[in-house]
Amino acid sequence: MKILISDSFSKDLEEKLKELGEVTTDKNELANADVVLVRSATKATKEYIDQAPNLKLIIRGGVGIDNIDVEYCKEKNISVNNTPEASSVAVAELAIAMMLGIRRDLVKAHNATKSGEWIKKQLKGRELYKKTLGLIGIGRIGQEVAKRAKAFEMNVIAYDPYVKESEIKLVELDELLKSSDFISLHTPLTDETRGMVNKDLIAKMKDGAILINTARGKLLNEQDVYDALQSGKLGFAGLDVYQSEPPEGSPLLKADNVLLAPHIGASTHENMDRIGEIVIKQIKEFQK
Ligand code: NAD
Repeated sequence: MKILISDSFSKDLEEKLKELGEVTTDKNELANADVVLVRSATKATKEYIDQAPNLKLIIRGGVGIDNIDVEYCKEKNISVNNTPEASSVAVAELAIAMMLGIRRDLVKAHNATKSGEWIKKQLKGRELYKKTLGLIGIGRIGQEVAKRAKAFEMNVIAYDPYVKESEIKLVELDELLKSSDFISLHTPLTDETRGMVNKDLIAKMKDGAILINTARGKLLNEQDVYDALQSGKLGFAGLDVYQSEPPEGSPLLKADNVLLAPHIGASTHENMDRIGEIVIKQIKEFQK
């Protein structure tokens, strides 16, 4: 069995997988691969899959499988797996880090201090304590964010039309939008959620609300978010994901009131190790 590691996984995964088959990181070996391991960089489109006549299994190390043409895989009898349970803590910690970093102006504080400026008087932050956090989507990651936000004594509410019961207070979307100081997105990218954060939805938010998106870039209309950041309707945005990645030409790159990360939500050493363990287990299962 030939296993192609097409994107970046934990350092020791290649070595560990050698017990299960022939392992390569050479993308030119796609034509001979039985199993391909991808994260988000590789796009397993119809054209990609057509180049892999032996392919039987694609494993996406991560949650969303929107970079894989799942329908075409079904047609071709190729199994598609992911590791949805692994990344929740890593992404949740990034969402919380963004909220804290934004409210204490940490990027500005760091840059100024490092360049010899002492801007102590200009930097009056705000606390998370007693603020309302609205979670759109209360699945695995949303729940981990909620747990951590509660430790900061935030008032946590959530909107999720597919969850009927939760320890988190569930509210209608309009109520969440009008009462949240922070809105954090944790839904998958679906036909229903694509572009959901547009000017109409933003208009229903509290003035100066802070938007956090560690889910998928295509949930946002980037121009509408930019306009709202410029007008002050949105106070700040913390973004890990973009319409296209890297976000070349995105209006959001021009905004001052943004904290931007290069899609690193899942990128912790601990998560890479967890993903590696799950990948090994899934390949073993597949070989049975
Ligand atoms: P999940 O499937 O456990 O939870 C998603 C939740 O969204 C579900 O409870 C679902 O009912 C809800 N939902 C679906 N449609 C909705 C809608 N229209 N409105 C409100 N809620 C809706 O998924 P998860 O593991 O929590 O992942 C959430 C998101 O995070 C996904 O988009 C995933 O791709 C993304 N993600 C990003 C990174 C990163 O590196 N930044 C890493 C992992 C996952």
